[in-house]
Amino acid sequence: MSQGKNLVIALDLGGTQFRVALANDRGELLRRYAEPINSPDEPQRTLGRMRDAFNEMLADIDRAEVRGMGAAVAGLIKPSSGVLLTSPNLLAWYNTPLKDIWERDLQVPVWVCNDANLAALGERRFGAGKGASDLVYLTVSTGIGGGVVIGGSLLVGSAGFGAELGHMTIDLNGPKCNCGNVGCLEVLASGTAIARLAVERIARGDASAVADHLDGDLSKVTAEMVAQAAASGDALAREVMDVAGTNLGVGVVSLIHIFNPELVVIGGGCSKAGDLLFGPVRRVVAERTMPDIEVSVVPAALGDDSGLLGAVAMVLEETSR
Ligand SMILES: [Zn+2]
Repeated sequence: MSQGKNLVIALDLGGTQFRVALANDRGELLRRYAEPINSPDEPQRTLGRMRDAFNEMLADIDRAEVRGMGAAVAGLIKPSSGVLLTSPNLLAWYNTPLKDIWERDLQVPVWVCNDANLAALGERRFGAGKGASDLVYLTVSTGIGGGVVIGGSLLVGSAGFGAELGHMTIDLNGPKCNCGNVGCLEVLASGTAIARLAVERIARGDASAVADHLDGDLSKVTAEMVAQAAASGDALAREVMDVAGTNLGVGVVSLIHIFNPELVVIGGGCSKAGDLLFGPVRRVVAERTMPDIEVSVVPAALGDDSGLLGAVAMVLEETSR
């Protein structure tokens, strides 16, 4: 069916920018283009800019060479219809039938999925999880998202809510989360949590280099500052990274017990802290996982391209069935 069709179009629609790419079936991005979303409240305008970007990128490409388009979207996607139900940063895009719009614009088959879910698929096909059949992926940055691959297939759930791994409760009396629940992994182990944990202790009077050069404005503290101070040996920052990493590890242990993955892959901005984060995660996994379970916790390999490459992987899998 797809013989001779070696090209895939990929799109990554985030809260602040969109990126389009043309890839081959080995996951090599042959062409790419990125543009900020200047008017998030006007979906039609951004969709028009995307159409222009597609036309320019594909001007000399025979559409018969294209298998389809995969789109990684930062939002909740209805799996069957490819409708964007809701997105925290693109509120005006509520109920936009993305699959139908892009199929009309591009005249190729289109598949749409949540970006963190797709990053799991991308890491499994092209990144840190190459060849694994069962894999759990977590992206730890401002929030925590994730994806689960079981027997080579992505778990999306009946209505697209599958694998909301950041909203697993790990402390039933914990702080309130943006999702309405309390004590979620996201509110105890994300970048936002790292900054908050540091600020709470500095506000109590504990000394830390994190507070230097802020003129007393603790709202400027970021997870990156805390990680940098920890790397330089700052005791409070190291303790905060250890607390967040331990919390993350507790979540990872539950995911290991639920899914029995070969690999847990951790990406996102906070994963750049390296051993400061992975150290406590691996310690908790070693201490608390059932004996006889074998699993590795590894850093993601695809960086910012995980959504695009996950979208490519989705098209390759959908068209090879
Ligand atoms: Zn939550």
